[in-house]
Amino acid sequence: MKKVMLIFPPEWVPTAPYLALPSLAAVLRQNGIDTVLKDINVEMYDHIFTPGFLLFVKSKIQDRFKELKQNAANLSAEDAELKQMLSDYQHIDLDYHIQKVGRAKEIMRSEEFYEVEKSEWALNAFREVMEYVSVAYFPASIQFYPIESNLNVYRPWVSEDLLKVPFDNKVNVYADICRQLVLRSIRKEKPEVVGISIGTPVQLMSGITFATLIKEAFPDIHVTVGGNIITRLKDEFAKKPHFFGKAFDSMITYEGEHALVWLVEALSGKRKMNEVSNLIYKDEEGQMHVNETYQERVDQLPPPDFDGMPWEKYFSPEKLVPYLGTRGCYWGKCTFCDHGAGYIDQFR
Ligand code: SF4
Repeated sequence: MKKVMLIFPPEWVPTAPYLALPSLAAVLRQNGIDTVLKDINVEMYDHIFTPGFLLFVKSKIQDRFKELKQNAANLSAEDAELKQMLSDYQHIDLDYHIQKVGRAKEIMRSEEFYEVEKSEWALNAFREVMEYVSVAYFPASIQFYPIESNLNVYRPWVSEDLLKVPFDNKVNVYADICRQLVLRSIRKEKPEVVGISIGTPVQLMSGITFATLIKEAFPDIHVTVGGNIITRLKDEFAKKPHFFGKAFDSMITYEGEHALVWLVEALSGKRKMNEVSNLIYKDEEGQMHVNETYQERVDQLPPPDFDGMPWEKYFSPEKLVPYLGTRGCYWGKCTFCDHGAGYIDQFR
């Protein structure tokens, strides 16, 4: 059976693993499928606060400044302002900030976190450095804490923006994260199927960036996307065949535990693609297919399998292990709530 890599893209609170990957891994491994888990969300935050990435950001600021300087005679007022900002940020004491965020990571991951002044100092250290990172990717705004980054010039709900954003090396921080963390892991692990879990609008931006750049670098890997936001957009994506084969190969809607096992079986020649429930795909003739849906029997699922999660990288003084005992909400009546949007039925 083909080897699988599951990726959780940024951005989500990096204090504990999100349950999507361990829940999928448990069923894949139960069915004898070799599965590697990559929580790129927490790896990204850990990576951003390293000397290597911050020196990379410094050179990015210098390059963008040089480009504007060479064109100084023809700059718009906005570009002139950006040039000034890039110039100003070349004079910060980067070594001081590198030391500071190194210490801040230690505080977040130790008993010192419970001393409020220290944890506030740590969060401010991260915020200062994120301001510096945001200058390199201007007009993107990269945040930590809160987890509210925005690439600003691209909108997650506009399909043409999603097709363009992976190739924008100025603004799209996730493209650099993909090259530095995701593609390197793929080269090392050599998966034949990659699944990307997309649960929020920002993850749509980073997840489609990862998926597209993976397809570009490794055209033989089957890339499938799933998760709450993918489920909500299923009717729209099914009408956009040009995404299939370019940004990803297939989509898994609703719950993905068994759908992913059946997809791997189909790709390994053990069943037909039209027998993979919850799958949307394009066949070799370019025909789109929306398969029948399947709902998981929660009482028959194995417990989540966290093997391979990077425990030492979470920004938390304790090991936090999430568990979801039910699917959906027993009440399900609050008009403002969209919790059930990713499920076929409500409470189980
Ligand atoms: S807000 Fe949503 S999840 Fe919470 S009780 Fe209401 S319907 Fe249920």
